Amino acid sequence: MKISPKSQAFITQEEHFGAHNYHPLEVVLSRGEGVYVWDVDNKRYFDFLSAYSAVNQGHCHPKIVKALTDQAQKLCLTSRAFYNDTLGPYEEFIHNYFGYDKVLPMNSGAEAVETALKLSRRWGYAKKGIHENMAMIVGCEGNFHGRTISIVSLSTDPDSYAGYGPFTPGLIKIPYNDVSALEEVLTDYGKNIAAFLVEPIQGEAGVFVPDDGYLKKCYDLCKKHNVLFVADEVQTGIARTGKMLCCDHEDIRPDIVILGKAISGGVLPISAVLADDEIMLTIKPGEHGSTFGGFPLANRVAMAALEVVKEEKLTERATALGEIFRREMRNFDSPFVELVRGKGLLNAIVVKPYNGKEAWDVCVAMAQNGLIAKPTHKHIIRFAPPLVITEEELMEAIEIIKKSFRSLE
Ligand SMILES: *Cc1c(COP(=O)(O)O)cnc(C)c1O
Repeated sequence: MKISPKSQAFITQEEHFGAHNYHPLEVVLSRGEGVYVWDVDNKRYFDFLSAYSAVNQGHCHPKIVKALTDQAQKLCLTSRAFYNDTLGPYEEFIHNYFGYDKVLPMNSGAEAVETALKLSRRWGYAKKGIHENMAMIVGCEGNFHGRTISIVSLSTDPDSYAGYGPFTPGLIKIPYNDVSALEEVLTDYGKNIAAFLVEPIQGEAGVFVPDDGYLKKCYDLCKKHNVLFVADEVQTGIARTGKMLCCDHEDIRPDIVILGKAISGGVLPISAVLADDEIMLTIKPGEHGSTFGGFPLANRVAMAALEVVKEEKLTERATALGEIFRREMRNFDSPFVELVRGKGLLNAIVVKPYNGKEAWDVCVAMAQNGLIAKPTHKHIIRFAPPLVITEEELMEAIEIIKKSFRSLE
């Protein structure tokens, strides 16, 4: 990768003064608009990561930025010690938008997952009648739900959990995309299981799409055993896969929905947990919270960001353009391309090493040609552009991707 002196200075600065908990591709970005970002040397790139699907509405969407700047000049933060004139409107908006009785607003995705875990346990004791401190939660191998101690306690990726023990008890891991594994664990321990936590598509694992019907069968099993079905839609939600929620593909309504990332269009860290009263009201005043959760700035930004999703028909775009992407890449004859998979505009290419080159080299070549994406798990590249991308832009991007693969043969 050719790195300009200007870029190198920023990279070196991060290296010296920041924790080394990431290994970024060596581009230094300074500006974004729609599907594009520009680096400090004013080179333009297609953004095919979209901040892990947080920027579904495109960079610096004018309507969302306006909501941010308007509210920023009025009132930013009150804490929940007082009422404010944005939270109620936001909560009602979310109720109408997603059809759940209540929303519990948080900030990061991980916090929302933690909230869902607490809510599940609480419901398990208060409603299901699980004996004190016996509640268990089932998760899936290969999951990614964030970075807190409890969440990494459920991880099967050593990069996520190794060296962070002791781990949170009461968590069970079963294989993903395996209905009988869930059936077995529910049959054996169902009385003590509060919830099944699942990503409708495993994003970080490399856009692993389960078999058709998997989610519905799991949902039905959960109902049979009086276990909450909890969908982590932080990456798959908000139109990314061609439906508002990925669970909509199988017409199931999770008991708890976890949202984050694109709920703000990438403008602020905003997350949310959705549930009906029977579950949500098991947490009483003072028993959970966050200083920033549901702050005025976030409430206005999230409403604007969700309006954009409908106004600009992002679900329809994701469906149509995703089909074009997969068709083009599946018809592309390359020794590197082992498999193309995904739903809507959440896609991945499994890259077979060839000629001593692997996924990282492909990403470097793409960056040189004006498109940024990042490998996940060494041999998989995720392709997730902002959903506002046009068909013309997509075709141009696909040409860059193909050209980059070819350049390494
Ligand atoms: C990114 C992600 C999270 C964590 O969100 P953060 O905002 O990074 O804490 C949780 N679940 C899924 C499925 C994600 O993709």
